[in-house]
Amino acid sequence: MSINETFVIVGAGLAGAKAAEALREQGFDGRLILIGAETHRPYERPPLSKGYLAGADEREKIFVHPEGWYAEHDVEYRPGRTVTRLDRGAAQVELDDGDLIGYDKVLLCTGSGPRRLPIAGAAADGVHYLRSVDDSDALREVIAKSSRLVMIGAGWIGLEVTAAARQAGVEVTVVETAELPLLRVLGAEVAQVFADLHREHGVNFRFNTSIAQIDTAAGRATGVTLGDGSRIEADAVLVGVGAVPNTALAEAAGLSVDNGVLVDVGLRTEDPNVFAAGDIANAQHPLLRRRIRVEHWANALKQPATAATSMLGGAGSYAELPYFFTDQYDLGMEYVGYVEPGEYDQVVFRGDVPGREFIAFWLKNSRVLAGMNVNVWDVTDPIKALIRSGAEVDPARLADPTIDLSQVAS
Ligand SMILES: Cc1cc2nc3c(=O)[nH]c(=O)nc-3n(C[C@H](O)[C@H](O)[C@H](O)COP(=O)(O)OP(=O)(O)OC[C@H]3O[C@@H](n4cnc5c(N)ncnc54)[C@H](O)[C@@H]3O)c2cc1C
Repeated sequence: MSINETFVIVGAGLAGAKAAEALREQGFDGRLILIGAETHRPYERPPLSKGYLAGADEREKIFVHPEGWYAEHDVEYRPGRTVTRLDRGAAQVELDDGDLIGYDKVLLCTGSGPRRLPIAGAAADGVHYLRSVDDSDALREVIAKSSRLVMIGAGWIGLEVTAAARQAGVEVTVVETAELPLLRVLGAEVAQVFADLHREHGVNFRFNTSIAQIDTAAGRATGVTLGDGSRIEADAVLVGVGAVPNTALAEAAGLSVDNGVLVDVGLRTEDPNVFAAGDIANAQHPLLRRRIRVEHWANALKQPATAATSMLGGAGSYAELPYFFTDQYDLGMEYVGYVEPGEYDQVVFRGDVPGREFIAFWLKNSRVLAGMNVNVWDVTDPIKALIRSGAEVDPARLADPTIDLSQVAS
């Protein structure tokens, strides 16, 4: 199939690597080129703020494929090379070494990068961001050497690093502009669970607080000055204020970009030869009937198979519900579904919330939009089924752990 064709994948993260795998699995036997700006072969990022950061997971475990996989599958993997231009007219990509590669189909998997803080001191030594394995290695050393850390931002990455640092005995102050951690994603009811968890582990929170600047001495961060003028001293500062999709290449190529590259249910852009998957794809979702862009491992893992089908001319449609997970101290959780901030009208808890063994459901008009299981396992499929069914549920039955989740309709 397609033996004379060349497919180029731009970005060798999880999505890029899985796309190469899916194309070969689906029978593409033409030239397949995977170009990645990083020098490490494709790896998964979740361990970088969890087990790998804590030194519990070995480095070899983070990689998507064994070292020899790319050659064995005839994938021309070009590490350490950035695609600087996508020329749709000439159907070619240009690399930072000047190389030009013609393509029949191109898949954009350029992912996202950390949002930078536009404040004084943000470029000083001792100010850290976490996206790559190199960042994680550097941060592990910082945690080992520091006694006080300031975390800017109480999102997932900030909280996971906070947990790792606390477990290593580091004093951590988390500064957050909102009144609770993860407030935008979880809403106040469930965000409180994470605030309590971290407080119990000795974390100092400064909510409703802005950062005026990162203080420095001789070019090194020494702490932060808050919006009210007070100071917090620290040996290092970690900035975890979210990620932004790497859309510059797509934008310069004239593709439609709005919070990611706009793609249809089959991950096709408006150009029939250009596709996008993973963190950068703002994709039409057939069940949710809207475009969504998520920065989730499971999305980068599974979307590429649909993109591959579309690249091969098939009728792909990506209909998985968003899914993500976190591990912090002894709390493990999975979240499935999709709720825009403020879009729900009820939260129902099933189980033991103070004991942190429960499921939370977000509802609108008595229908389940999302569910999060905390230290309760093997319930993702029934939660997904509830969301997909769109059925009205009885909140009392939903809250009752003795009633099977398939029996909660009203
Ligand atoms: C520390 C951390 C912890 C996380 N934990 C979780 C978690 O617990 N659960 C969860 O669901 N998700 C988690 N995520 C999110 C998850 O890792 C991402 O959703 C996933 O990595 C997205 O994969 P991707 O391939 O789309 O993009 P990326 O992983 O960002 O990979 C994109 C790659 O493309 C390269 N690139 C960009 N532009 C170019 C170019 N022009 N030319 C060549 N190469 C280019 C980049 O260098 C990068 O290597 C975490 C992320 C981080 C950073």
